[in-house]
Amino acid sequence: MAARTPQQRPRPAAESSGAAATDRTATDRTATDRTATDRTEAPHVAVAVIGSGFGGIGAGVRLRRAGITDFVILERGDSVGGTWRDNSYPGCACDVPSHLYSFSFALNPDWPRSFSGQQEIRAYLERVTDTYGLRPHLRLNHEVTEARWEPAHTRWRVTTSRGEWTADAVVSATGPLSDPQVPDLPGLDAFPGQVFHSSRWDHELDLTGKRVAVIGTGASAVQIVPSIQPKVARLALFQRTPGWVLPKMDREISELEKRIHRALPVTTALRRGALFAVRELQVDAFVRRPGVLKLVQRLAERHLARQVADPALRAKLTPDYRIGCKRILLSHTFYPALAAPNSEVIASGLREVRGSTLVAADGTEFEADVIIFATGFHVTDMPIGSRVFGAEGQSLAEEWKDGMAALRGSTVRGFPNLFFVIGPNTGLGNNSMILMIESQLNYLIDALGTLRSLGATALQPTERAQRHWNQRLQHRMERTVWTTGGCRSWYLTEDGKNTTLWPGSTSAFRRATRRLDLTEYDLIKRQAPAAATKQEAAV
Ligand code: NAP
Repeated sequence: MAARTPQQRPRPAAESSGAAATDRTATDRTATDRTATDRTEAPHVAVAVIGSGFGGIGAGVRLRRAGITDFVILERGDSVGGTWRDNSYPGCACDVPSHLYSFSFALNPDWPRSFSGQQEIRAYLERVTDTYGLRPHLRLNHEVTEARWEPAHTRWRVTTSRGEWTADAVVSATGPLSDPQVPDLPGLDAFPGQVFHSSRWDHELDLTGKRVAVIGTGASAVQIVPSIQPKVARLALFQRTPGWVLPKMDREISELEKRIHRALPVTTALRRGALFAVRELQVDAFVRRPGVLKLVQRLAERHLARQVADPALRAKLTPDYRIGCKRILLSHTFYPALAAPNSEVIASGLREVRGSTLVAADGTEFEADVIIFATGFHVTDMPIGSRVFGAEGQSLAEEWKDGMAALRGSTVRGFPNLFFVIGPNTGLGNNSMILMIESQLNYLIDALGTLRSLGATALQPTERAQRHWNQRLQHRMERTVWTTGGCRSWYLTEDGKNTTLWPGSTSAFRRATRRLDLTEYDLIKRQAPAAATKQEAAV
């Protein structure tokens, strides 16, 4: 797992900065050089995309297809891939089937397994970047430190760690799983061993023979635990809340299947369609009839009973909430790893660290050499929020102090021409996020086209449209398993409001974002010249 494919190797600094002589055009060079030397004359682009995970790469492809070529993709890392670049922990894989977890416009007949590993998904995103000509648009190692709407110029000013741009529109594709969340625990700073978050895996460290504590029981921990348990001396899982686990029906995709998919591309599309239909049919149980999930819960109970013989361990691992309330975990190796003689489940959260002793909330102690935090991400407090400033000078974080809210998950009043990919309430409990991303990209492209056809410069949702959308959405949320299932999940804010998930089918969201409804928007016309300089089309 630690081995990297050639595509995963970190790029040399010059190349990764987007300043490599080999992959930039003359106009690119002008723009980059100007950025470095003259901050008042920032180059202007039609669109600045923040992030190069699935959302940012998808945005790049769709912009180019719409004939918009003067855009940059600003990426703080040294390669594309987003969460699939950052999460390289042992066992990292997707729990959504490969043929569904890919772009509809870039189907891949060669997926090696029914559920792809991180390396394959990351390599796929690198390939899409090349195939669709996105390299010249990429500005790697450019961390966006501020994006500020300039009302006088009707444009955004985007400041990065390596230069500044002005832009007609900003697409925030930073994703909800980008900034790790590590609990602030007493004594953690003085822990003498190694400490890291699951998305910042220390590949230099050999865990062989070490006493390792894994904190958390989410989708990451479920994959990490079985991957490291055979090599460590002792493994302790600090479990604040057990998760429901179903078997993962993973298998190799045969050469014959791949040959058929290659020869008849329609079969790849059909396979994707079938996977989609199955998941789409399940939505109703999550959002309207959580009672139906009892049947699925029985399957999970049986899975636990089959894999864990010890009744005491089984009791510890049995959740006390309805399946689906938290993300359902898929694994056939997690329980056996926990039942192994060198493992223990501490059914309590980690409370504090005293030297090398980890102390759980129930007082249980564990001597550790390494702590791995599989404690999730800043999801409901989207970190980019404190860097984006709207028409009144207010930050998005201030705007969202009572919880994230947008119109159709995409636009926010007070922040003209700011478009989200995976915005508020666009997450899914059980289906491929790529479907939601593509819906939001439809909406973005339609919005930009609408602006152009109307001769307007910017748009922002009316207060009424945004309020109604969120009222309806939160009303629908009341019946969902995420609200009624009796758990506290990362989908919820401190106040228990679900600002992350979409309470409906992906088809319903597709319909809701197919076209921009002008009655929901205020249009803004430009008063002043667009920008001091205009960057010519980059490619
Ligand atoms: P997560 O689901 O947010 O889980 C974090 C875990 O940390 C929870 O179990 C939480 O406990 C626990 N925790 C926090 N503080 C703790 C403490 N002091 N002591 C003990 N436990 C503590 O994070 P994640 O596993 O990284 O997954 C995040 C999301 O990433 C997933 O839900 C999924 O969307 C995505 N993901 C997807 C895949 C995939 O296959 N597609 C794989 C990995 C991740 P509580 O439950 O009690 O809060």
